[in-house]
Amino acid sequence: MSAPTAPRWRVTLADNTVDEQEIAAVTDVLRSRWLSAGTQTAAFEREFADRLGADDAVAVSSGTAALHLAMMALDLGPGDEVIMPALTFVASAAVVALAGATPVLADVCAPDDLTVDPADVTRLVTPRTRAVVAMHYAGYPADLAALRMVCDRHGVVLVEDAAHAPVVEHEGRMLGTHGDIGCFSFFATKNVTSGEGGMVLAGDPAVRERIRLARSHHLTTSTWDRRSSGDASYDVAGIGLNYRPTEVSAALGRVQLGRLGRDRQRRRELVATYREVLAAAPELVLPFAGRTGDSALHLMPVVLPEGTDRGGVREGLAAAGVQTSVHYPPVHHLSAYRDSAGAGRSALTVTDAVAPRLLSLPLHSRMSDDDAVLAGRALLSCLRGR
Ligand SMILES: *Cc1c(COP(=O)(O)O)cnc(C)c1O
Repeated sequence: MSAPTAPRWRVTLADNTVDEQEIAAVTDVLRSRWLSAGTQTAAFEREFADRLGADDAVAVSSGTAALHLAMMALDLGPGDEVIMPALTFVASAAVVALAGATPVLADVCAPDDLTVDPADVTRLVTPRTRAVVAMHYAGYPADLAALRMVCDRHGVVLVEDAAHAPVVEHEGRMLGTHGDIGCFSFFATKNVTSGEGGMVLAGDPAVRERIRLARSHHLTTSTWDRRSSGDASYDVAGIGLNYRPTEVSAALGRVQLGRLGRDRQRRRELVATYREVLAAAPELVLPFAGRTGDSALHLMPVVLPEGTDRGGVREGLAAAGVQTSVHYPPVHHLSAYRDSAGAGRSALTVTDAVAPRLLSLPLHSRMSDDDAVLAGRALLSCLRGR
């Protein structure tokens, strides 16, 4: 049986580095015949926590599950507010809205810094604010020192949406360990992928234990434990869901985590190549080009010149075989959130100005330098032709 083939782009937006090592790891799991969370999952948690300098980690079934468990640990309810960037993936807004609470959208810093603006966050804090979500856009750290200060001053929780940023050092510690809770995604297009998957970190062992319990129906013993011990009894002392990963995804994640260093180096070279080629168009903004610190280099975003027909540029690039995307349509531009109470609290000036100009170019560690040159030059010729 052959797998269906993806459209034949010359340069795809994202790809993974899955090869024989992952195939062998998954085959071993299948031969073990235990497929839900078990020893592979425990080992993945241990290795991920060690890599990030955290005490422990909880593996889950997706990044969205990670964010949902983070919000469940806060006992959010109607009237509560959670501040997050308007320019983010919708998942963090959804898990807040699901609790009956209000996602309050904050502006991003500037066209060349697409992380949440701590000054706007400060303006948006009210007595109802329960948490602030920092998203490390494209793998570049948000201003955690400033956000930490705002959160501490008002006694609110700092959650990191580190879906773009696995294993990134920032001011002496890893992203995901600066906040009270850190959430990661291992979705198919992320830097570390297990197909679907995620991880939650929490500095407070009590919060971590709550998250671990809620991941699996809040059962006091897991199926794996009961299988090992033969004891059939359990209690449920809180509300929980099933957000367990599978052993297959954990085994994949473990191999992928081992590849991350090499993959990162390739991404670094590709981003350098892009910046060299795109320097020929000084009217383009290359976000984060001035950053010198560590980054996961998850995306290669550009901000097109004002007034550019982005649809036309994307069609031109597609005609050249270059797949592009937009990260992201801002949350308040999505119909479910347009009229939500938290959408109109900030003017969102920068977000609204950059939203129609954002474009993500292909970036993944299977790309060659020639691929980046091809994609970069294709963008230059689209801009000249406008
Ligand atoms: C991918 C992503 C998520 C959601 O993760 P899933 O694993 O797809 O559920 C959340 N936030 C951001 C910023 C993401 O990029």
